[in-house]
Amino acid sequence: MLDELRRIVTEVAQSVDLRSALDLIARRVKDALSVDVCSVYVLIHPEADQKSRLVMQATEGLNQAMVGTVSLALNEGLVGLVARRAELVNLENAPDHPAFKFVSDIGEEFYHGFLGVPIIYRGDVLGVLVVQSREQRRFSSDQESFLVTLASQLASGIRQAQVSGELSQSQSITPQWSAAVTARGLPGSPGVVFGIAVSVLDVVDLEQVIDRVTRDPAAEWIVLMAAVQAVRAEFTQLKQDFAKASGNEDENILFDAFILMLSSGSLLDSLESRVNNGQSASAALRDAVREHTAVFEKMSDPYLRERAQDIRDLGSRVLAKLQARTHGERQWPERIVLIGRDLSASHLAEIPTDRLVGIVSSTGSGSSHLAILARALGIPAAMGVADLPISQLNDQEVVVDGYRGLLIVRPAGPYRQELLRLAQEETELTAELTSLRDLPAETTDGVKIGLHVNIGLLADMAPSKTVGAEGIGLYRTEVPFQIRKQFPGEAEQTLIYREALEAFRGRSVVLRTLDVGGDKPLSYFPIKEDNPFLGWRGIRLVLDHPEIFLTQIRAMLKASLGLDNLSILLPMIGSVDELQTAKEYIEQAFLELREEGEPVAPPRIGVMIEVPSAVYQIEYIAAMVDFLSIGTNDLTQYILAIDRNNERVAARYDALHPAVLRAIVDVVDAAHILGREITVCGELAGDPMGAVLLLGMGIDILSMSAGSLPRIKWVIRSFTHSDARKLLNDALSCHRPGDIRQMLYHALTERGLGGLVRAGR
Ligand code: PEP
Ligand code: MG
Repeated sequence: MLDELRRIVTEVAQSVDLRSALDLIARRVKDALSVDVCSVYVLIHPEADQKSRLVMQATEGLNQAMVGTVSLALNEGLVGLVARRAELVNLENAPDHPAFKFVSDIGEEFYHGFLGVPIIYRGDVLGVLVVQSREQRRFSSDQESFLVTLASQLASGIRQAQVSGELSQSQSITPQWSAAVTARGLPGSPGVVFGIAVSVLDVVDLEQVIDRVTRDPAAEWIVLMAAVQAVRAEFTQLKQDFAKASGNEDENILFDAFILMLSSGSLLDSLESRVNNGQSASAALRDAVREHTAVFEKMSDPYLRERAQDIRDLGSRVLAKLQARTHGERQWPERIVLIGRDLSASHLAEIPTDRLVGIVSSTGSGSSHLAILARALGIPAAMGVADLPISQLNDQEVVVDGYRGLLIVRPAGPYRQELLRLAQEETELTAELTSLRDLPAETTDGVKIGLHVNIGLLADMAPSKTVGAEGIGLYRTEVPFQIRKQFPGEAEQTLIYREALEAFRGRSVVLRTLDVGGDKPLSYFPIKEDNPFLGWRGIRLVLDHPEIFLTQIRAMLKASLGLDNLSILLPMIGSVDELQTAKEYIEQAFLELREEGEPVAPPRIGVMIEVPSAVYQIEYIAAMVDFLSIGTNDLTQYILAIDRNNERVAARYDALHPAVLRAIVDVVDAAHILGREITVCGELAGDPMGAVLLLGMGIDILSMSAGSLPRIKWVIRSFTHSDARKLLNDALSCHRPGDIRQMLYHALTERGLGGLVRAGR
């Protein structure tokens, strides 16, 4: 039975579309389990005012003419029962069960044995897979396992078909069900916007190519040959350029070999026969490359073995051309919603950012760096919207609800009208918030709090200046490192930092030293680790590379010459020793510059509190520095042991967890006892609920993305300090983050601030 299961799974993966996959499952399962019927029901979400229904999408054994027509509500029949309970139902004689419903025209009357399993995707029931038999029988546990395994394999395909529109466009679904599809992720950056999807495809990786069959091998071959030809032309050009630059004819042998391989021979033959056998161009390429690299890898001559990598590179180049053909040069829509996997700052650089209105990432969470960037730009974002059929969304109308982390595809009818109204209200809210720009961040009982901005890209400098920030509370210096092709030198860094220090002349500017590693890679300094967030990150890395650290500190000190508004912040400090060493290097850079005749001023030095060990040693650490800044993004990650970027566990990641709040209270209290200034620069500072509690703790400065600042100013100006203290005490007596959120939601809505935590005013 296991072999059978494996065979079905492989065949399903090779299906051209969901329709064929479901038909195939119905056919194969019926035979494999020797049953009389196998059907698949998919839950369809119609217009907002109608109830979801389970629509029969494939059957083998029942009346095929009813596919797409027959449907059940969630409270109807045994199929509804399976979906409602999200649990399998195995019955010897189905008609005896109280939930049994007779559906006419379907031909179900003769069946007794019933086994239905839910198709579940990340906690959501997407449909039901059912087998039935004429005779009365109870299905065995092996048969149950077989069906459960198959249903789990189907879930991702159904989800993708829902989102891409394949399901609603399928002819077998009646028009009233051709409605919007909502893909749920996590809140990334608040706001509601309409736009046109622009898909960003994954980096070219042959191993990521999935199996697809083609119905038109001739057309597929033409496409593949165009890509091969384009790469051949590139090599011919490269060969000429190289010969001109080096005058070295020998090396050109390599280019000649590539050109030859792409002109005739076994690689091309293998591609041709694969496409003729029905494989898609990309899948044929992947397999032909695998076949050829395997030959070279077995060779004993090391030089020839190395050629395997050349063939892989060649394949990647052809794949890039194939992908560019489908998604390449394009007319940019007026309102772009960027959709992709693992998006980063560099993807934003590839599109006209003045047209960017929304971001959707299939990975990550609200505390990923992409979400932070979206908030800095004031652009709504949904994160961790997993298993999106990214390329198929291209050019479709979509709505991003950044409050709930929703991507709504093809909204229609009254639902679309409702979303338009919400988007309009969001625009009005943003306009109203700008009127707070020059007003102080002061509670109604006169307590002031510093509101600073977090920046990284120089692109966030412009919005930072217009929102009325009193300083830069966190400059993530790794961002300028990330968007370059090599480590920037001292002079280049000096210019970058000078721009920020100059823009905020007379106000405090906190430059954080390089915090790479974790989810912030440098393409030119690759680090491969099993646990990057527990690995060579932040201060740990630069203390092992003093040349990088010293160059950066020198650049920071030089950049502040004559301005003297520099504070240096050290990330990921986990021990007194690390802090001591980092301070010694800062002292070394300072003394060197003085010796070189630069009249640099000693900077203020601060530590980020983001590692639990630093919380437990807070009094010693605070005593060694001028100020502290709590990085709640990492502190939450490390206290809760939940990866801040992993969408699978993101629902559990919550900076309002009582354990995190207690740690923050301890750090704030210790800082105040020692007379040290204390900032929160993690995303909690820019969360309206978090800001209320931090206000209650007596935090000195909240530093956040520019887009969040007006919202937080509104919060501060709507509370008294004593109200905030009371809410904090109440929160600290709660045991669950959900209870804390509920209490704060009420506190905000009571004061007319509900529009800050959900769509609309
Ligand atoms: C934090 O961890 O809270 C923080 C501000 O740093 P980053 O998000 O850059 O890791
Ligand atoms: Mg951090």
